[in-house]
Amino acid sequence: MLETIAMDGPAASGKSTIAKLLADHFGLLFFDTGIMYRAVTLGALLENIPIMDEESVSQLAEQMEIDVAPPSIEDGRTNDILLEGVDHTWAVRQPEVDENVSIVAAYPGVRAALTKQQRRIGQRGRIIMVGRDIGTVVMPEAALKIYLDASAEERARRRYEECLAREEEVSYESVLAVVKKRDQIDSERDVAPLMQAEDAILVNSDGKNIDQVYQEIKALVEEKLIGSKG
Ligand code: C5P
Repeated sequence: MLETIAMDGPAASGKSTIAKLLADHFGLLFFDTGIMYRAVTLGALLENIPIMDEESVSQLAEQMEIDVAPPSIEDGRTNDILLEGVDHTWAVRQPEVDENVSIVAAYPGVRAALTKQQRRIGQRGRIIMVGRDIGTVVMPEAALKIYLDASAEERARRRYEECLAREEEVSYESVLAVVKKRDQIDSERDVAPLMQAEDAILVNSDGKNIDQVYQEIKALVEEKLIGSKG
């Protein structure tokens, strides 16, 4: 499908940061699907639904109203994340959600509910969608697929620095452990596991800064999408 970009990769590989820059530059809609899995996880925590209760969590995913709207406040957010109309933009990023989100995302019922919504949004085109299974399951017809990778240590260091900037009290070791655990659950689950689509281009961001990775992927977009038009 024309002008659709799928960007997948493990936790904290820089997907959202790069995708947002690309979306702004090329005038595409940026859509971070991880937010939806985070929203369901936070919803379960807020409603005291045990994370291991697959049936209730799946039911919640089907019923919950998740909205991603343009930012209403200038506090570094790229979007407002609303659950049942209430702003939970920063809460979906809290460590308790990080620790539980991969369990929730492995439930087939949760994936079915969220994948359906993601496909509907993707079909409008002119979009860069970010996640774990976009190139393989959600938009297998995407015009360009990128798989953005980096070592677990580098990804944990970046996530740790983000936590420090938000003045959250965490240790590097605990962030690294959560990153590794999420990678393991995301890669080993039965439904839509994290993996590189056969026709995705692998970009490794180890030792590169944001601008270097951005320029590398921007060149790929220009070559594959814009170049193919002319
Ligand atoms: O990208 P982010 O780290 O915010 O995603 C949170 C979690 O949501 C991932 O660890 C993964 O378990 C799940 N996820 C997924 N499929 C997607 C996007 C996210 O399973 N397309």
